[in-house]
Amino acid sequence: MQIDDLVILGRAAPQHLKNGRTTICLGGFSYEYGFIRIYPTKPQMGVKRWDVISVEVEKNDADTRDESWKIVGSRDNWDYLEDSVSKRGEVKSQQARREIVDNNLSSCVNELNSQHISLGFIKPKQIFEMYFGDNPQYGKPVQLPLFSTHAKQWAAVKRDYAKEPRLRYECENCLTKQGFHDQVVLEWGFYEWMRKNPNNIEQVWENAQFLSENHEIYLLVGNQQNHRTSYMVISTISLRKLDKPTTKSMF
Ligand SMILES: [Zn+2]
Repeated sequence: MQIDDLVILGRAAPQHLKNGRTTICLGGFSYEYGFIRIYPTKPQMGVKRWDVISVEVEKNDADTRDESWKIVGSRDNWDYLEDSVSKRGEVKSQQARREIVDNNLSSCVNELNSQHISLGFIKPKQIFEMYFGDNPQYGKPVQLPLFSTHAKQWAAVKRDYAKEPRLRYECENCLTKQGFHDQVVLEWGFYEWMRKNPNNIEQVWENAQFLSENHEIYLLVGNQQNHRTSYMVISTISLRKLDKPTTKSMF
């Protein structure tokens, strides 16, 4: 399938594949095809959030989720995978960004789960807590090929971090019995900040505009391939608050 309008929404912290490759899960939205997950991708893909790209994808036998795809030839062309992606533009205006998010908003994570949708936008009504939990992957033995040239590229992987950022929040119409969700944040930018500023990891929330009075926070959430009912925050999206009421017809 050829996608020519894929808007990059976020990239999750790198993970290691069994063959030692450092891989990244990419979340995006296509006006034509809806939510798209591309896995695996490389850390160095030359894309950032809100870029619009063209890419040819195919289904991955190992991942049956409707939204999941892999780049055609990603195994054979791994070293040059970035060449499979061409940048076509960028969603620059706040209004265009807001339309993507608002037009595809889900009311609660449970709604995504009950409809077996593996990616979606959530707008927290209230964020109860931004905190750091122990990373369950940290310190666990891992089997990587000895002397793998891929194993220690410049990117640290998720399991290298003792702590993981987490959010406790309530959706707009939260359907959970306990009234909140408690999810790990996987956004790569959080982990890059933590790697470079280990003595000031708390600032990730400020960096992502969680403390800003001028921004609204939205979450791109997704489930786990092997644990479909468990959702995580793949990316946090901040949009400037609207100054005054506007209607779409104005644009
Ligand atoms: Zn909810």
